Amino acid sequence: MNIKQIDLKYRTFLQGKHNKTISICPECNINLTSKRNKNGTLADNVIGYSDSNLGVVEMIECPKCFFRWKYHANQQTYNNFLISIANGKQKHYKGVKNENK
Ligand SMILES: [Zn+2]
Repeated sequence: MNIKQIDLKYRTFLQGKHNKTISICPECNINLTSKRNKNGTLADNVIGYSDSNLGVVEMIECPKCFFRWKYHANQQTYNNFLISIANGKQKHYKGVKNENK
């Protein structure tokens, strides 16, 4: 699926602090790497997408302290998010049917 046509069900309002370090929670420093561990990957913790004046952003919720942050999304991060849903690992979209599977 093209990131320019993000499904409505994955859209949410713009929220969270803009963060330069994509995978590290600015509050508790938990590191959400691409490797799956008890906290999940970055893609597993995405809460949704929104358009901003900077382009499409992806919002993340820290699985430990629930702080929310956002950063620029790209096709790769969106693909990772869709894969996470397809694998049943995505924490905020469990059971969502992914028609792109
Ligand atoms: Zn945190």
